[in-house]
Amino acid sequence: MLLYDSKSQKIKELTPVGVKDISIYVCGITPYDTTHLGHAFTYVFFDVLVRFLRYKQHTVKYLQNVTDIDDDILRKAKEQNTDWKSLGQSWTKKYLTDMKNLNVLPPTWYVKATDSMDKIVEMVSKLLKEGYAYSSGSNIYFDVSEFSSYGDLSHYSEKQMIQLSRERGADPDDKNKKNPLDFILWQAARPDEPVWEGPMEIKGRPGWHIECSAMINQYLGAQITIHGGGRDLIFPHHESERAQSEAYTGKDPFVDFWMHTAMVMYQGEKMSKSLGNLILISDLLKTYDADTIRYVLLSHHYRTPWEFMESELEEAKEKVLLLHRTLSTKLKSSNDTNQKMKEFSHALEDDMNTPKALEIMQQTHHSSTLRQMSDLLGFMFR
Ligand SMILES: [Zn+2]
Repeated sequence: MLLYDSKSQKIKELTPVGVKDISIYVCGITPYDTTHLGHAFTYVFFDVLVRFLRYKQHTVKYLQNVTDIDDDILRKAKEQNTDWKSLGQSWTKKYLTDMKNLNVLPPTWYVKATDSMDKIVEMVSKLLKEGYAYSSGSNIYFDVSEFSSYGDLSHYSEKQMIQLSRERGADPDDKNKKNPLDFILWQAARPDEPVWEGPMEIKGRPGWHIECSAMINQYLGAQITIHGGGRDLIFPHHESERAQSEAYTGKDPFVDFWMHTAMVMYQGEKMSKSLGNLILISDLLKTYDADTIRYVLLSHHYRTPWEFMESELEEAKEKVLLLHRTLSTKLKSSNDTNQKMKEFSHALEDDMNTPKALEIMQQTHHSSTLRQMSDLLGFMFR
């Protein structure tokens, strides 16, 4: 099976012959707002990838996190005059309901950052001890000058990285940093913020990147097969995860395949909370069924950015109806059975070409083959 790896920027063979176990980590949500179509594009894609790998007889361990302590959650809780914990819990519950409604299978483990605090503190302490981190102004930072390949995942220049970290919520102008690209591993709590006992007796909370590294190490080990997430997470989030994980374990590579899903646009811009141009899954489900929404998502290749148009839902609805009709004609015998299943598998083995797989599905007339394809793409019709 061939998959694209963002770090080498190459299509590579997924597993050498004989390797059966596959570990996958996908960065989860920060639960302070609702699930939109961009999230669904990522999680439905990885859902299909996991289904297909299992069909190919791999043992898949799939970990997803929930970033339940974070600047955004604390800010939103303050704005709404509510407790950060209950805010996170209620949005997590809504996210899980959206995923269930879209027929996304639950990961093997779904872990909260606040449940991995011991591991986080242990990692930061070791990074300090080994000279990869330093404390300054009551915060602890990762020292990128100690990790020479910082930037090798995202392939951005230093100038671009500084620019992007400014845009994406890090603070390159922080006077406590030795280098503008150094990032926070542990931060001292501000008044009224929740605190944990941290390294060097700093009462505070972890930085965002270290949470993912800690959960991966705790559940999947030092090296994993696939690390996924939206394309916008490649920097600074994944770049920093990679640096601190490899520094901590001394093992390179941390990840065999970095897989990034493309951005979903709407009204000419990236669909995002800050721009307010969101298409919510819960709203779409009022008018369209899950299969129709899933059909729209899978009709776009995961690495190709696309702009959402309402008309696509209507088209997908027709296509799903056609599949229902084929199934209800109960055509049992057809000589194309093996051939179509083979073509379908080849499409997915070719860097998860789901648009092609959908096309082949439309040409398939044998009901049991069609049901098998439907299951593999996570549709609910049978
Ligand atoms: Zn992450």
